[in-house]
Amino acid sequence: MIKPVQKELYAVVGNPVDHSLSPVMMHAAFERMGHQAVYVALQLDEFPEELSVLHKVGFKGLSVTLPHKEAALLAAQEVDETARVIGAVNTLKRVGDGWAGCNTDWKGSNAALASVSPLKGKRGLVLGAGGAARAVVYGLQQEGVDVTVCNRGVERGASLAKAFQCSFIPLEELPGKLASLNPHLLVQCTPVGLAGHSSEVIVPPQLFQKGMVVMDTVYRPLHTPFVRQALKAECTVVSGLEMLLHQGVEQLKFWLDIPAIHEEVMGAMRETLQKAVKPNE
Ligand code: NAP
Repeated sequence: MIKPVQKELYAVVGNPVDHSLSPVMMHAAFERMGHQAVYVALQLDEFPEELSVLHKVGFKGLSVTLPHKEAALLAAQEVDETARVIGAVNTLKRVGDGWAGCNTDWKGSNAALASVSPLKGKRGLVLGAGGAARAVVYGLQQEGVDVTVCNRGVERGASLAKAFQCSFIPLEELPGKLASLNPHLLVQCTPVGLAGHSSEVIVPPQLFQKGMVVMDTVYRPLHTPFVRQALKAECTVVSGLEMLLHQGVEQLKFWLDIPAIHEEVMGAMRETLQKAVKPNE
């Protein structure tokens, strides 16, 4: 029988996970809360089979990242309705013999964007149609944003638009649609710009307008070419780190079953993240 010596065990599980900032962020949170817990990064190759091993070892909660978010939805015994609509679970909590799952990415994205501007009644353009885009679209619609999705792959983009009943523009048609779109909010939800991926800015520079609220979900490097383009156009830029922070806050609330996380704890998490990522790293 395996018994953890530490009081509580948590992990981020994915593949790869070596660059995840969740361990430093969560340690900062637990330390400031005075909560005895250990949070590690685990590369899981065989998901969901390896989940049962983590359950046996005694893990209380898991952050789930690429490429396991869809599989986590299927593996969880209990899943909230929102995660079902989004089609992905990014948070698992130990319950009985299995796991309860939810999605906190949409709350993270909403909180990050709403920190600089009210969302209600705005027009939003979301780039991408993967799991992150689905969470962002769901969140924006909850706040009354009129959303248009723009994706390279037509089938995937159209399917997202159908599921969420929003408009869709294929990426290659975007240059011709700029004048009619004129979005207040622009959220980049593709891995373009991520260290090791292609770094071209996939949208025309004229899309960026002064005062527009722009968030790149990619935060490594912090100043992606997309962010640099937005700063040049004097947009209000929201860091992808803020989304990471706020989705992490929601994970803590879910695992610990508490209604809120103290501002001081969030401050410690933010400070740790900012120290961990250099602008051009
Ligand atoms: P995903 O499911 O693999 O979807 C990727 C999307 O990006 C697809 O729509 C894909 O278009 C598009 N794409 C990929 N390469 C492209 C390129 N070269 N040009 C144009 N479009 C391209 O990934 P995901 O789970 O949505 O995650 C996307 C990113 O979100 C991740 O890289 C991560 O950095 C970020 N993220 C950040 C947070 C945060 O807290 N800040 C949270 C979650 C995710 P096609 O359909 O045409 O292939």
